[in-house]
Amino acid sequence: MHSDLIGKVEKARRYAEEPERIKFSHLRAHFNGGNSEHEIELKDNHWTCTCSFSHTWGTCAHIMAMQRILTPMLTPEAIHDTDLKLDAAAVEA
Ligand SMILES: [Zn+2]
Repeated sequence: MHSDLIGKVEKARRYAEEPERIKFSHLRAHFNGGNSEHEIELKDNHWTCTCSFSHTWGTCAHIMAMQRILTPMLTPEAIHDTDLKLDAAAVEA
């Protein structure tokens, strides 16, 4: 293998061990919720999900799972996007 390419492969291996180098700015994913499929989107540090729970509460198990899985690769805003809504919902309940 060309030595330049070997260097890149080694760098990629090192980067893969450091996920905090990566910050998702936009992503869309299909989430298998067991009973049905949901579509999750992160855009401008704001999460949305097509499940009915998220429409009422502003978050859901699917969004929370994505936040847990991707924590090192999310901006602080994307990690805490749903916090205020949860607090507001708790006050209104
Ligand atoms: Zn959901």
